[in-house]
Amino acid sequence: MPETGTPPASSDIVIIGGGIVGSAAAYFLAKKGAKPTLIEKGQIAGEQSGRNWGFVRQQGRDPLEIPLIREGIEIWAGFTEALGADIEFRRTGNLAIADTEELMAIYRSWLPLAQRFGVDTRLLDSNELAKLLPAMEPRFVGGLYTPSDGQADPVKATTAIARKAAELDATIVTNCAVRGIRAPGGVIESVETEKGIIRTPRVLVAAGSWSARLLRPLGLSLPQLVIRATVAQTTPAAKELTPTGIWGPSLGTRQRIDRSFNVAAGILTDYDIVLDSLRYAHLYWPNFRLNRKNFQLHLGMPMLNSIQRMFQPEAQYERQYEKTRAWDPTPNPDLVNMAMKALGHLFPDAANLQVARRWAGAIDVMPDAIPVLGNVDKPKGLMIATGLSGHGFAMGPIIGKQMAELAADGKTTHDIHGFRFSRFAEGAMQGARSIL
Ligand SMILES: Cc1cc2nc3c(=O)[nH]c(=O)nc-3n(C[C@H](O)[C@H](O)[C@H](O)COP(=O)(O)OP(=O)(O)OC[C@H]3O[C@@H](n4cnc5c(N)ncnc54)[C@H](O)[C@@H]3O)c2cc1C
Repeated sequence: MPETGTPPASSDIVIIGGGIVGSAAAYFLAKKGAKPTLIEKGQIAGEQSGRNWGFVRQQGRDPLEIPLIREGIEIWAGFTEALGADIEFRRTGNLAIADTEELMAIYRSWLPLAQRFGVDTRLLDSNELAKLLPAMEPRFVGGLYTPSDGQADPVKATTAIARKAAELDATIVTNCAVRGIRAPGGVIESVETEKGIIRTPRVLVAAGSWSARLLRPLGLSLPQLVIRATVAQTTPAAKELTPTGIWGPSLGTRQRIDRSFNVAAGILTDYDIVLDSLRYAHLYWPNFRLNRKNFQLHLGMPMLNSIQRMFQPEAQYERQYEKTRAWDPTPNPDLVNMAMKALGHLFPDAANLQVARRWAGAIDVMPDAIPVLGNVDKPKGLMIATGLSGHGFAMGPIIGKQMAELAADGKTTHDIHGFRFSRFAEGAMQGARSIL
């Protein structure tokens, strides 16, 4: 990767964060002939974008996201050629399995959206499901299936996008934390990094689960919370057991090209209560009440750390980013066991597979489960693309493209008004509408 350890003295635009969103924004800007600078405190794809399951799906999404992901999936389909890299993208479909009629009814409720936006999603009954997955033993009520969905390798895809951006003349600086965004008089003037100051009129915050902390000193209150999600990779199976990515009962899984599986215990996650949990409780309460059973709550050091951060002197607060080059939460062994059991139950031929590796990632979420995208009123020159709420690997490329258009042309192809930062302060936030 043609990257540098030294930031330039000035840049037309500084992108903070080398996840899939920041990397894609750099790539699409560079494609337009701009010369963006991307600053990453650790390595490209070091956090969420390199730790996710690898599902690239349209199905189940919030109606606001569907037009974007419709174009997004076509970008994915052309990436192998455009990036000149093997990112293991395959259009293998995505399947959500229902074990109850209630769940089937929820899946059915998404079909009108699929029809409205031309997504090839359909319901499968029990027999069709068994036909699609002959290696699966238990019988289920049915499922929601989108053949045009796909999967890709998270690290390979994100680094290939950043690499191509660099080839097209973007400057990629890694191991360099941004300490603060300077905007005297309400206008972006510079970005201060641990390795020097970059003068710039425009900044894109694509800092994943660190975005709220970066924005707070600017007086911007982003209601972003962070959950811990555990994943494991198994040893390879003897043969292909599923071509498609699967959301099953207590299981999210896909079989990789080497026939190993990525497995996770569905949407079961850990949540550390912090000061922001209380600050934004009113926004999260409706969604939390519905999904309470999916979270294991923890009260401990993260809460104390968040209190301490509130009273830290500015210079110390600004050094927090370089202390954690990559947020590497401890995986929850119970969730790994649960996922392995669920995989073995689904596919008896996978029952003897072992855990080859396990990891966890910190997912940044928003109360309405859709991201914050676009300019803010103040400071002038600041753009945000964050809060992708656990399904942003698939959305990263199209969001990066929208941010590149906004920065270069002042407007976007897709309507991103519904994702505006001000929706929370305006009281215009809707309830979460994605079903997966
Ligand atoms: C376990 C797990 C499973 C998931 N499964 C899926 C899936 O199957 N499909 C899907 O679509 N999505 C999935 N997601 C969600 C998806 O991974 C994220 O939504 C997406 O990667 C977010 O990308 P990002 O670029 O916004 O953030 P990130 O990838 O987190 O990137 C942000 C970057 O900013 C850097 N940064 C932060 N602060 C600073 C600073 N001060 N200075 C410099 N750099 C900074 C960080 O180091 C980080 O590299 C999953 C996530 C996890 C954790």
